[in-house]
Amino acid sequence: MEPQWYYIAVGIWALVGIITFFYLYKQTAPYGRHTATGWGPMISNRLGWMIMEGLSPLFISFWFWYGPSPKSDMDYIIYALYAGHYVYRGYIFPFLTRTSGKKMPVSITFSAVFFNLMNTFFLGYYLGFMEGRETITYWELVLGFILFFCGFAIHFISDRILINLRKPGETGYKIPSGFLFNFITSPNYFGEIIQWTGFAILLGAAAGWLFVVWTIANLVPRAWSHLQWYKRTFPDFPQNRKSIFPGIY
Ligand code: NDP
Repeated sequence: MEPQWYYIAVGIWALVGIITFFYLYKQTAPYGRHTATGWGPMISNRLGWMIMEGLSPLFISFWFWYGPSPKSDMDYIIYALYAGHYVYRGYIFPFLTRTSGKKMPVSITFSAVFFNLMNTFFLGYYLGFMEGRETITYWELVLGFILFFCGFAIHFISDRILINLRKPGETGYKIPSGFLFNFITSPNYFGEIIQWTGFAILLGAAAGWLFVVWTIANLVPRAWSHLQWYKRTFPDFPQNRKSIFPGIY
């Protein structure tokens, strides 16, 4: 593929991400607390998460290893960070959640698979078939790694706090507190955005920033929906809590 077609596709996919951002304020994706019937057949949450996220390491591996471009050390690191994150999200996270008996629409599962297919194409094609990351400055390296691992730690810790609100067998919801939950309702989403910003700095290419656009498009409206849901559901919910960016939004 000529590079200009790749970059045109990046631009179109970024535009779709921006439209999705606004759409998701009108229609919250129906999984988790927002799950709903009327979206076709349902499957178990745990299996849904495994299918949604567990295919990503395979998709990225295909493009990365099949692509003939010579790979730099940085390319291997970037590949490992991306695949490693999705091994966690697809094969470990679903078994940490207390989600027995809960379901999500199959249509949501497959729209997430499509989302991951697109992202892994843009990233994997860049690493496997284009120039990849050839050089990186000291400060890009330091900042990229700090943001990536701080972001990972923030969403990992936040997810653990949320998951542990339930005793084994419980499926209801409680008001979370502690860590960043005293300031925002979705620190897991906040951490995810920080992590992928670090990743984009490490990659230093359009595909990384494209993924940041899509992460924001998915998670900022969802965090807003979560906050409205908490306020509706718990009359004693702390009114000064923001949704995703501490002190801001
Ligand atoms: P949520 O914060 O909605 O839920 C995380 C887990 O905690 C779920 O198991 C949920 O149960 C449980 N939980 C949440 N709030 C409560 C509560 N108040 N009381 C009891 N249990 C609670 O996150 P998501 O499920 O939307 O996402 C999970 C992870 O995936 C996050 O870290 C997120 O950042 C990441 N993600 C990344 C995306 C991206 O575009 N990069 C897109 C979507 C998610 P239940 O499922 O029953 O609600």
